[in-house]
Amino acid sequence: MAYTIIGHQNIISQLNKAVKAERVAGAYLFTGVQGVGKETVACYFANLILCQGTDEALKPCGECNACRKIQNGNHPDLHFIRPDGSQIKIDQIRDMQQQIVYQPLEGPRKIYILTNTERLNDAAANAILKTLEEPPAASTLILLTENIETIILTIRSRCQIIPLYPMHTKQLATELTKHFSVDEETASSAAILSNGIVGKAITLIEDGISAHQKIPDILSETDPMAAFRIAEQLEKNPESLDELITWYRDLLFLQQDAPIELLTHPNAIDDLKELVKGYSRLRIERAIKNVLETKSLIQNTFVTKITALEVMCLKLI
Ligand SMILES: [Zn+2]
Repeated sequence: MAYTIIGHQNIISQLNKAVKAERVAGAYLFTGVQGVGKETVACYFANLILCQGTDEALKPCGECNACRKIQNGNHPDLHFIRPDGSQIKIDQIRDMQQQIVYQPLEGPRKIYILTNTERLNDAAANAILKTLEEPPAASTLILLTENIETIILTIRSRCQIIPLYPMHTKQLATELTKHFSVDEETASSAAILSNGIVGKAITLIEDGISAHQKIPDILSETDPMAAFRIAEQLEKNPESLDELITWYRDLLFLQQDAPIELLTHPNAIDDLKELVKGYSRLRIERAIKNVLETKSLIQNTFVTKITALEVMCLKLI
């Protein structure tokens, strides 16, 4: 096997069945949050379709001419369309439309993977609709998006929609220990910190998870003036609020004498035990609520991020 896919086994077997039965659709729409594995699964699918290996059960073989070309990024029947700047532009779609009408050169199909389909501008979206309405024979479009709500209904209705979901954190942790040289504690922390999103978990492991294992200053800070400095730090890291919640959740667990396996940050248990002495259950619950509210405020309203964070930090201290 050329591919190690972590999770998504139902989808993999669904795609395998479609290829074996020669019932590959003309258009797919893969949906799911960033890092969940949309592009990985789309590449696997393309590889499965184009592989020239003779043993069906071993496809994609990773060794045939087609598999090699895909690995090297130069298979003539596999194309990627990515945002040019912030958008996918109509010229990119027109280029595709000019090529897609020709027969595939080496494989059974021409495959186009459009990453970030939510970034099609209006003109490009209308143009692609024409291809979806009358798909050329022997072609497959695989559209990927983080946000299906932004994809116009006329595009959605012409695609086979395949949703990809984050994994259960326990299952992800097990997979991480199989495929990376990490101990169980690190794998478990990466799985929980990433909310079961494979791509994020791998990044955490590759970047070294230790930076995420240091108790955030805000939990032990007592000087209200520090709120502004801490808010500034939090502003720089978009994941920071989710991470902050995992720390307060650990405090809550410790407060209730929960088993250590439930902790996101088991490596910091000694410091956390010391810290929890200064916290009442009510204070921890209020803190979690506060962080969640701030997160929602930043996402759903026009409040300035730094202001919301400063208010939050003041309340937390
Ligand atoms: Zn192959």
